[in-house]
Amino acid sequence: MSKLAIGIDIGGTNIKAALIDSTGSISDFCRIPTNGKEGFKKTFISIQNLIQRYIDSIGKDNIVGIGCACTGQVDSVSGKVVYAASTIPELSGFELKKELIAFAGLPVEVENDVNACALGEKWLGAARDVKDFLCITLGTGIGGAIYKNGGIEHGYRGVAAEFGHMSIDMNGEQCNCGNKGCFERYGSVTALIKHFKEELLKGNKSIVTEMVNGHTENISGEIIYAAKSSGDPLATKIVKEYNEAIICGTVSLVHIFNPEAVIFGGGITTLGDIFIEPIKKELLSRLMPVFREDLIIRRAELGDNAAICGIVRELF
Ligand SMILES: [Zn+2]
Repeated sequence: MSKLAIGIDIGGTNIKAALIDSTGSISDFCRIPTNGKEGFKKTFISIQNLIQRYIDSIGKDNIVGIGCACTGQVDSVSGKVVYAASTIPELSGFELKKELIAFAGLPVEVENDVNACALGEKWLGAARDVKDFLCITLGTGIGGAIYKNGGIEHGYRGVAAEFGHMSIDMNGEQCNCGNKGCFERYGSVTALIKHFKEELLKGNKSIVTEMVNGHTENISGEIIYAAKSSGDPLATKIVKEYNEAIICGTVSLVHIFNPEAVIFGGGITTLGDIFIEPIKKELLSRLMPVFREDLIIRRAELGDNAAICGIVRELF
């Protein structure tokens, strides 16, 4: 049999893993909860068990190595998690690469999860045909990746592309990073839902309340977009503001990096044209001519598989 790699993607909520071959074909995909609250050392035992299961099923000799994408700021050279949110205690400072090598005795690649997604999209997805692009992922926060000259741009300390913490309002909302008015305070899906709920608390009415049977904790980005599609005025207003935030941040990024393409990722982008078309139109209209002339704007294609594929690419 041809050799396979083990791809792992450690997220705040779930850990995804699979076996991947040299063409990017995936088998034995699995997803387990991160259970980060109890501390990452405990989570790492679950990861070791996952790896052991793959090793037992196909034999260590048939594995080229382990690629591990991880949430947070990851130094891909040392393989250490430099910083991660306090929602997963013990992850900040964790020597991920060293611990994986010590456990499995296999070659290991480690990378921030958005960078790994960018590598996956470049290999098999929306960025296959482009050389120079930015990834902007919209989720709990906003993640970023810069791909140029055939690889990820990591920055001096390995933690570049924190697009979510670029300020788009100098007097804006306080962010937990210490800055004010950060992009992700307005352009993340968390922000979309938060701003929508704030309007409901002010007494503004929306069909969204009926759509979730009064359980406002169940309001999601998808539900807000569905309400907008059926003409709900509040959802229309909030989605418009949400789009403005995404456009505002992205215009600055395009003016700074002059990329060939911008790839938007994250669950909300799977809504398709209803998500991307209004952003595309307005974004292009706000860019200086030379920046917009050949600019490609696309949605990511690989979803859950992007990071686990991207992170193993170099192992073959
Ligand atoms: Zn911030």
